[in-house]
Amino acid sequence: MAKRLKTTKCMGRFRQKPRKLRYANNSNYKNDVMIRKEAYVHKSVMEELKRIIDDSEITKEDDALWPPPDRVGRQKIALQLKATLENVTNLRPVGEDFRWYLKMKCGNCGEISEKWQYIRLMDSVALKGGRGSASMVQKCKLCSRENSIEILSSTIKSYNVEDNEKFKTIVEFECRGLEPVDFQPQAGFAAEGVESRTIFSDINLQEKDWTDYDEKAQESVGIYEVTHQFVKC
Ligand SMILES: [Zn+2]
Repeated sequence: MAKRLKTTKCMGRFRQKPRKLRYANNSNYKNDVMIRKEAYVHKSVMEELKRIIDDSEITKEDDALWPPPDRVGRQKIALQLKATLENVTNLRPVGEDFRWYLKMKCGNCGEISEKWQYIRLMDSVALKGGRGSASMVQKCKLCSRENSIEILSSTIKSYNVEDNEKFKTIVEFECRGLEPVDFQPQAGFAAEGVESRTIFSDINLQEKDWTDYDEKAQESVGIYEVTHQFVKC
């Protein structure tokens, strides 16, 4: 509902007819409907407001060229992995229940979660206002803003022998209002022998190193010096 500001005292002081200022916002801010405000202001305030609007050149912009409103605060962030592979390839996360352990930073207040939080493909939470779904929706503990993150399943890639010792994107996340700042690989990876195709399931990379023995190829296998970085897409 429109609120009227009390201007009686000002009117008396300036002995002038107050100007009516009307404001409407249709950007669907916080999923609200059209936001409308009204206020009565002095002529000098009205002139200053007009000057600010003219200076911003906003009236020269074309609505048709404006970015779609639902893209505000949304960004894709890629998780890149780097490792040294010894006689194995096709290193990949397995299954819908694979846990991506992340630390998240709120884009509004900068708060970083202390604990590791995991997100999984199998989880889907509806976003307010019919804006689709996300793997996780959470309220920031500090500023209470509701943020979300979605695992983009089609972007999940394996890390192969030809990627050895180079950063490669293994997954992309769609983030609204937050961004991942740290990643902790844990259990749930699989890989296979380069020549033998022997499957190694349930590889745990928490220690950043993993070793085993390929009976078929009669050679040792391993994954070493696992590191990561985040890249904005
Ligand atoms: Zn926050």
